[in-house]
Amino acid sequence: MSSVNQILIEKQGQVGIVNFQTEKLNVLSHALRADLYQAIQQLLADAEVESIVLAGLNKAFSAGADIAEFSAGTHLQFPSLHDLVHLLSDADKPVVAAISGTALGGGLELALACHHRVVHAKAQLALPEVHLGLLPGAAGTQLLPRYIGAEAALDAILTGKPLKLALLAETPLLDVLTDADAKQAAIEFAVTVQKAPHIKHITLELNDALVELLQAKRDAAGTKPQNVVQHAIINAVEAAVTLDFEQGFAKEQVLFQSLTTSSVSKSLRHAFFAEREAKNIPDLSADACAKNIEKVAVIGAGTMGSGIAICFLQAGFPVTLIEKQQEGLERGLSLIQKHFASQVAKGRLTEEKAQAIQANLSTSLEYSALAQVDLALEAVFEDWDVKTSVLKQMDQYLPPHAVLASNTSTLDLNVLAQQTSRPESVVGLHFFSPAQVMPLLEVIRTNTTDDSTLMTALEIGKRLRKVAVVAGVCDGFIGNRMLNEYLRIAGLLIDAGASPYQIDSALENWGMAMGPFRMCDMAGNDIGYLIRKQQLKLDPNKKFSGIADQLVEAKRLGQKTQKGWYDYSQGNRRGEHDAEVLAMIDVYRTERGIQVKNFSDEEIVARCIYALANEGFRLLEEGIALRQSDIDVVYLAGYGFPRWRGGPMFYATEQGLDNMIAAMQQFAQDPTTDASFWQVPDLLAQLAS
Ligand code: NAD
Repeated sequence: MSSVNQILIEKQGQVGIVNFQTEKLNVLSHALRADLYQAIQQLLADAEVESIVLAGLNKAFSAGADIAEFSAGTHLQFPSLHDLVHLLSDADKPVVAAISGTALGGGLELALACHHRVVHAKAQLALPEVHLGLLPGAAGTQLLPRYIGAEAALDAILTGKPLKLALLAETPLLDVLTDADAKQAAIEFAVTVQKAPHIKHITLELNDALVELLQAKRDAAGTKPQNVVQHAIINAVEAAVTLDFEQGFAKEQVLFQSLTTSSVSKSLRHAFFAEREAKNIPDLSADACAKNIEKVAVIGAGTMGSGIAICFLQAGFPVTLIEKQQEGLERGLSLIQKHFASQVAKGRLTEEKAQAIQANLSTSLEYSALAQVDLALEAVFEDWDVKTSVLKQMDQYLPPHAVLASNTSTLDLNVLAQQTSRPESVVGLHFFSPAQVMPLLEVIRTNTTDDSTLMTALEIGKRLRKVAVVAGVCDGFIGNRMLNEYLRIAGLLIDAGASPYQIDSALENWGMAMGPFRMCDMAGNDIGYLIRKQQLKLDPNKKFSGIADQLVEAKRLGQKTQKGWYDYSQGNRRGEHDAEVLAMIDVYRTERGIQVKNFSDEEIVARCIYALANEGFRLLEEGIALRQSDIDVVYLAGYGFPRWRGGPMFYATEQGLDNMIAAMQQFAQDPTTDASFWQVPDLLAQLAS
């Protein structure tokens, strides 16, 4: 089977078999659809053939529709998935789908359009379109309820989760569930099968229980703008119950079209492609390859080192944990043990498995333990002299092929790398806290990091199941540098008249997982304090609100001292508004003679989100970020940015960059803000024009 001709037709007795296989997991591109359509027509016209088997080879029956076609509109080009659904479900010979791997989205819809399905017990069947802000648009919402009932179908389509095959064995969805070869079993089944009308002709019944269920799902979806998707799915499944197939299919189509053009779906699709694109590093030499990493060491068993060691252990790496003192090692070991004990308690790991993973952990107080290691990562104190001395030790003891990784958040990795005899092997692996939970990994490429070291770092990200994004060296890299500006602008908004509670609630209602002040309380307000002091050393004119400093000086460090911007002393984990804080703010403004202004939630959101995007354009201009979409990925994976808004850069672009510029020019007029920050970066001006 050539990769151009993706179809192989064979015959066994009176069974005609359409084998199909593409390099891209049988994604239903226009080319594959056309080939399938023609092959099925050919077998339908073949008098010798009495039944047909559709066998997706490869690991996938089909991974689904080609999402890129939705934006281009080519998904509707003949033969569309709809044409295939009609051809199959109207076929006058029984068609059997043989599913051995995954059948996702459009791939499952193709199988639902067949008369029968022979499925391997380990196959994965799902309609995950909801994650892209879509509904299954090739009769999935109409057919699945007819196979497994409206309630189960609604659940499957709303969650996008794989169907639990063992529970569906008695439904017409699964004619045969087999542990053997699905194609062979399908051919045997096809020999015996009689022609019967397709399930689409069945009419479902809208009973009271279903009416209640639909209402309950609608209530749960509520009025949040991102839930347009859930409402459309509920309406489509309702149509499967109240209308005949053709009418229901038409309704599904209308709903599908409205979602494809919705900003929610555009944003979710952008996020999907952005994550894929982040893996692509355009300037790597073609012959560079990742090094083979088998053993790793983590130096420093503090908060980050322990969490990072957990990540490596969970991914199956033998890990040596190195500390300077026994006490530090013991603290780290206890953090690691606690983690695995809690995984066992939560039923996520068996005791046996947890023990086996931890058996891969060894410890040492000597750098000589690095001699057998392929990659060592330091997570010691964020102090120039400590880091330099640790990197020098790594350089001395690691074998020549090894990668030297640093988890520094703020130090200049270009200069740190030069402290070793092999700066080309130094790379930043910037994890986020808690490292075993947070999916984001910034991979920091220094001026000297060579291609193979960078590729190794990206490969490590993949093996740790992190979302890895490459960034250049600067203070804060991509994520924290933008965050610092976002927090600074949010702080200045308090000076100008907004309360921290209004700012948090405006941004949370807009979709951020946590408002900026709630977030600072969680991280510890002392961290921001130190960052501000550091930034002021570098630029004494940088404008900050002084209120955050006053809070720290009053020992309101956040959750850890039970008081910060919020009051946690009553046990409320989200904290309560605190009149004391508001009074401090009042005094602060009065002392400075600030004329307070009322802010709308919209303006608060615009200032804060444009602060992110504005700094993002600067990062792009400086070449720290490779592309806008990488910045979005950082914010989606690491900072609780709502995925359905696509990321700060995508959001700003969708709003219109000229609108962003106009808003920035207006913000710059406000005397309490930092006019210099709102100067339009050249790149932004260029892109807008
Ligand atoms: P931490 O203070 O919890 O841990 C540092 C550990 O390093 C301590 O256990 C200390 O004993 C050990 N150590 C110090 N000197 C050492 C040496 N010479 N040899 C071996 N071990 C030594 O600090 P942390 O929060 O885990 O931060 C570690 C690094 O991770 C810093 O560079 C920090 O900037 C970075 N980071 C921290 C966070 C965070 O949220 N905490 C997030 C990302 C990155």
